[in-house]
Amino acid sequence: MSAVWLTLAVGVLAGAGGLLYFQILRPYLRMRESLRQLASRNFPGMPLPSATGLFKGPAGDIRRISDHLRSLDRQMADEGFSLQAILSSMVEGVFIADRSRKIRLVNNALLTLLGLKVSPLNRPVIEVIRRHELQNALESTLATGTPQEIQIVMEVPAASGGYELKHLNIHISSLAPHQQIHPNAVLVVLHDVTVLRKLEARQRELLSNVSHEFRTPLAIINGYVETLADGASSDPAMLEQALGVMHKNARRLTLLIDDLLTLSSLEERTKLLRFQPVDLRQILAGTLDHLASDISAHGTHILLDWPEDATPAEADARRMEQVFSNLIENALRYGAGKNPTLRISAERLENKIHITFSDNGPGIPLGDQAHIFERFYRVHKDRSRHAGGTGLGLSIVKTIVEAHGGQITVQSSPGAGATFFVTLPINQETVFSSGQ
Ligand code: ADP
Repeated sequence: MSAVWLTLAVGVLAGAGGLLYFQILRPYLRMRESLRQLASRNFPGMPLPSATGLFKGPAGDIRRISDHLRSLDRQMADEGFSLQAILSSMVEGVFIADRSRKIRLVNNALLTLLGLKVSPLNRPVIEVIRRHELQNALESTLATGTPQEIQIVMEVPAASGGYELKHLNIHISSLAPHQQIHPNAVLVVLHDVTVLRKLEARQRELLSNVSHEFRTPLAIINGYVETLADGASSDPAMLEQALGVMHKNARRLTLLIDDLLTLSSLEERTKLLRFQPVDLRQILAGTLDHLASDISAHGTHILLDWPEDATPAEADARRMEQVFSNLIENALRYGAGKNPTLRISAERLENKIHITFSDNGPGIPLGDQAHIFERFYRVHKDRSRHAGGTGLGLSIVKTIVEAHGGQITVQSSPGAGATFFVTLPINQETVFSSGQ
C-alpha cells in the first residue's frame, strides 16, 4: 500500500515538476534570453518567446517591443545611409558642431576644402578653422537659433604643396528639435567661391583697363572738337591737323573694340572656331602679302624656312592668319633695329608642328616675359600706343593657339631679339580625345 502511495506521490511530484518547467521555468528562461538579446540590440537574431497561460501576455508584449525596435532600427539605418550618401555626394564642405563647440559629423569634401590630413571629428571648431568671424557667427546661432552667413578668406594647404588662398561663403543653421529656440547643434556648410571671386576680380580689372584705354583717345577727340567749336575750324591748317588726329584716335578706338570683341568671342572655343584641313604655309604667305607695305616700310628682311611636311594641319584658317599677323606685326613694331630681320621657320615633330618667329630687335626684359601674354600688358606703353598697339595682340594669339590645343612661349635675351615658339597639333581629334 505504502508503495502505491509512494508511486502516486512521485507521479504527482513529477507532474507538478513538469508543469512547473513547461509552464513557468521554460517560458521564463526564454523571455529572459529574449530580453537579454533585446538589451544588446540584437533584434534580428533574437528568439521570439511564445507562451500560453501565465506568460502569454508578457511574451506578446516582448514581441511587440521587439517588432517596434526592429522597424526603428531599419529606419535609422536607412536614414543614416541616406545622410551619408547626401553628405559624401556634396561638393560643399559640411560639418555639424554641438553645444560644446566640437565637430561631431563631417564630410570628405570638408577635408579636401581645408586641406586637412586627419579628420577634425571631436575637435573644437576654433581649432580647425581659426577664424573669430566663424566663432562669433556660431555663437550667435547657438544662442538665438538664427541662421548666419559669413564670407572669409583663409590660407589652406594646397594639394600641390605650399598654401593657397580660399574664398569661402559659410552658412550656419541651427539644428533644433521641435522648433526649440536653443539648438542642440549647428549645421555649417562651406562653399568654395574662389574661382568666382577670381573671375570677378579679372572682370573688374578688365573693365578698369578698358575704361583707361578708351579715356585717352576720347579725351583727345573731345579736346579737338572743342577747339574746332571755339572757332579753329576756320583755320584750314588747324582743321586739317584736328581731323587727322581725330581720325587716328577714332581708328584706335575701333581697333580696341575689334580686339575686345575677338577676345570675348574666343572664350567659347568650340562654337567659334571652324577647324578644317588647311595649308599653314599658304596662310603665312597670305599674311605676308597683306603686310607687304608694312614690311617694306620697316625695311625688315624676312627669312622663311617652312618644309613641305610641316604644311598640312587641321586649324581655323582665319584665326591662324590672325596669329601670324599679330606676331609679325609685333616683330616689325618692336623688333626694329639695325638690319631688321625676322626668321620664320616650321618643323614637324610627330603629330605636332612647331613654328618659330625670331627677330633681331632689342628683345624683352626678363621680368616682363611672363606677363606679355596678359591683357593690356605692354613693356613700353607709349611705344605700343604710338605704333597703334592695343596691348591685346599677344593675349589674342595665346587664346587662339590654346583653343587649337597648342601652346605659345617666348624666349628673349635682352639686346639679342625675341623668339616666339608656337606649337600646334596637326589633328584636332587628338586634342579632343586627349581632353585638352
Ligand atoms: P601691343 O598691342 O602693345 O603690341 P601685344 O599684346 O601684342 O600688345 O604685345 C604686348 C607687349 O609685348 C608689347 O607692348 C611689347 O612691349 C612686347 N612685345 C611683343 N612682341 C615683341 C617683340 N617681338 N619684341 C619686343 N617686345 C615685344
